[in-house]
Amino acid sequence: MSARRPGRGVPPPSDHEQTDTPLGDRAWRRRQVFVPRLRRRLAFAFAAAIAVTSLVMVAGSYVLLRAAQDRDALEGALAQSRFNLLLAQSLLPADPVEGDFRGLLAALAIRGDFEALIVDGGSTYVSGPQVSRALVSADLVRGVQEGRLVYQAVDMMGAETLVVGGRALDQATELYFFYPQAERLAALARVRNVLIALGIALAALGLATGRWIARSMLRPVGQAGRAAARMAGGDLDVRLPESSDEFGAWAASFNMMADSLQTKIAALEEAQVRERRFVSDVAHELRTPVAALVGEASLIETRLRTLPGGTLPPDSRRALELISVDIGRLHRLIEELLEISRIDAGAAEIEWTETNVVEFLGKMMEVHSFDDVQLQATRDIEGLVMLTDRRLLERILLNLVGNARKHGRPPVEIELGAEREREDGRVWITVTDHGVGIAPADLPHIFDRFYKADPSRSASGGSGLGLAIAWETARLLGGSLSSESGVGDSAGARFTLRLPVRIVADSDTIVTDA
Ligand code: ADP
Repeated sequence: MSARRPGRGVPPPSDHEQTDTPLGDRAWRRRQVFVPRLRRRLAFAFAAAIAVTSLVMVAGSYVLLRAAQDRDALEGALAQSRFNLLLAQSLLPADPVEGDFRGLLAALAIRGDFEALIVDGGSTYVSGPQVSRALVSADLVRGVQEGRLVYQAVDMMGAETLVVGGRALDQATELYFFYPQAERLAALARVRNVLIALGIALAALGLATGRWIARSMLRPVGQAGRAAARMAGGDLDVRLPESSDEFGAWAASFNMMADSLQTKIAALEEAQVRERRFVSDVAHELRTPVAALVGEASLIETRLRTLPGGTLPPDSRRALELISVDIGRLHRLIEELLEISRIDAGAAEIEWTETNVVEFLGKMMEVHSFDDVQLQATRDIEGLVMLTDRRLLERILLNLVGNARKHGRPPVEIELGAEREREDGRVWITVTDHGVGIAPADLPHIFDRFYKADPSRSASGGSGLGLAIAWETARLLGGSLSSESGVGDSAGARFTLRLPVRIVADSDTIVTDA
């Protein structure tokens, strides 16, 4: 199995860090992006529905209007043409000459807004210069020659024109009438533009309405999300307004849940306070007799050392030695219980002192004879003076080094460095050993009170309170304590203490580089 060992001199990652983070807030901020997305989707759906509807309406109206207009225009042109043919029949003699055709054109000119073309054998007569025989297709000519009234749309000098052709009864003369459509089509185009503008306005209205509806529909969802996030962040007083709609029922259930949660948590907190007071009382009560026992045990130890061999039977000597060791353990346990009770009661004393952290650690190692421990500091921390409580800092480090020696294997290393963030920063101190490390299943609980990762290994030693006290103490110093471990025989455990360089204590004291 391969071991995972963090590199030297690099600020370690903060997995398993146990700090007071407002989880709910972060989760809500991460998720709230979905509400606007949902809102956008709803608004878009509304707008799309209205846009499609208005498009269908606009296009439909235009198509119907155009069809009706085209039909009317055609019927008008056909009616006019029939009339013109009758007129021609009545005006033209049996064997017409050019003057007759000119007379007919003049008569037609006062009838209406159209042009005329008369084809009589090889001769052509036109009402205006824009009309010519070339405009008349062969199909149209064939239809006229067959005696039918025929029509066709043609382009006359760039303008759409309807041509209707026919023959006057009893006459071989062909007559073609040109009805200009440009004006009518321009009017139709204006109507189309108005309809398009109307469609766009409707789509915009749809978007605005959609946004408004989506926002008002999703407002309770947003409120509920924020309330749940605040609750997750520890604010149990939060409640939702109970309206009379569907959301009201939902809000009522939420509020009931919040009530019941609040009651249960209050009961749990009360029970916890009672339990902690009980532990504290027990520890206080035991302190005096145990102190007396410690004195007596030390007397016994001295006597045992000075008694000549053979004065006591070996099993009695062994029993006395064990009693002395157990009294020592009991004494440590009571001191730890008292310490954690003091922290719980908020009675822990903190004495902020300006501290050169590298010097402090060096001295601490000398005083406690940490000859087997290697100390390494990165360059950025040299000379750094921070505000901390030396006694509390020492307590944490003694526990971590003690554990590394007790539960891990040498070499034990202390590394320290600084992380700068603008004018603020953090000091990190890691304690690493090369033992078996801590199993992944134990890591999340390692700072729990009385937790022992391997009870059999710890049978000889501590209470499982040391790391819990260290964790609470780190918090008292404004920092955090985290643990990580590699996997493998000598993977080792690593504990990281992070402390702020600048503490805003009661006096708002600021720390400077020395
Ligand atoms: P204890 O008094 O038992 O040392 P702690 O709270 O200090 O109590 O530690 C809790 C448990 O965490 C220990 O019993 C041990 O199983 C585990 N532990 C702590 N430090 C280490 C380490 N460096 N290596 C392996 N296990 C450790």
